[in-house]
Amino acid sequence: MDQTLVSDIRTRYAEIRGKIDDSARKVGRSPDAVRLVVVSKTHPLETVRAALEAGIRDLGENYAEEAVEKIHAIGVVDGLTWHMIGHVQSRKADLVAQNFNFMHSLDSLKLAIRLERFAAEAGLILPVLLECNVSGEESKFGYAAFDPAQLETLRLEAQQIAQLPHLEIRGLMTMPPLYDDAEKTRPFFRRLVELRERLSKQIPSVNWDELSMGTSADFVAAVEEGATIVRVGTAILGVRPPKG
Ligand SMILES: *Cc1c(COP(=O)(O)O)cnc(C)c1O
Repeated sequence: MDQTLVSDIRTRYAEIRGKIDDSARKVGRSPDAVRLVVVSKTHPLETVRAALEAGIRDLGENYAEEAVEKIHAIGVVDGLTWHMIGHVQSRKADLVAQNFNFMHSLDSLKLAIRLERFAAEAGLILPVLLECNVSGEESKFGYAAFDPAQLETLRLEAQQIAQLPHLEIRGLMTMPPLYDDAEKTRPFFRRLVELRERLSKQIPSVNWDELSMGTSADFVAAVEEGATIVRVGTAILGVRPPKG
C-alpha cells in the first residue's frame, strides 16, 4: 500500500468534507444531511484500496464492467456502498442490480424493468434516483426535464417505477453542464429542487428526499441549494487516468 497516496487522499477528503459541512451550516442545514460519494471511475484498483484505507466508504463508478471488476477484487468491506452514477444500457442491468448498492442514474422505464427483474432474482431491494437533465445540454443523459412537454413522461414513468417492488425511488440526480464559474450551475440545482417539489406533490407515496448533485467543480453551490449527496472525484482522488 502506497502510504503517501493514502495520506494525500485522507487530507483531501477531510478538506472537501470540511467545505461541505461549512456550506451546509451557512444555509442552516445539518452537515449530517449531506453524504459525500467519492468517484473512483477509471482509477486503478490501488487507488480504490488507498481510498478504503483512508476510511472512505461511499464509492461512485460510471462504467459497469470496469466497476464490477473492482467490486469483485475488493470483496466485502464493512459499511461500503457502491454507487452507480453513469449511464447504464439496459443489457447491463444485471451487472448493476447484482453488484451496486445505490443506483443514481436511472433514466428510463425500460432500464427500471430490467433492474427490477435482476434485483428480484437476487432477492434485494435497490435504492434508485431518477436522473434528470435540467439543462437541455445534448450530451447529458437523463429524463428531458428541461422540456415542459416531457414532464408528463417523467411523471408517468416515475409512477410505474414506484410500483416495482424491488426498486425503491429515493429522489433525483442531475449532472449539469461544466462551467468555469460554479455560480452558473446554481440555477440547474434549483431546477432539480423544484422538480422534486413537483414530483412530491404528484406522487406523494414516494419519498423524494434525496438530491444527488454537485461535483468537484460545484459541490459548494449544490450543498447550498439542498444536495443530500455530492459526487466528488478529482478533488479527492486527483486527476483521472483516461478510460481504458
Ligand atoms: C465523473 C463524475 C463525477 C465526478 O466528477 P469530478 O469532476 O471528478 O468531481 C460526478 N458525477 C458524475 C455523474 C460523473 O460522471
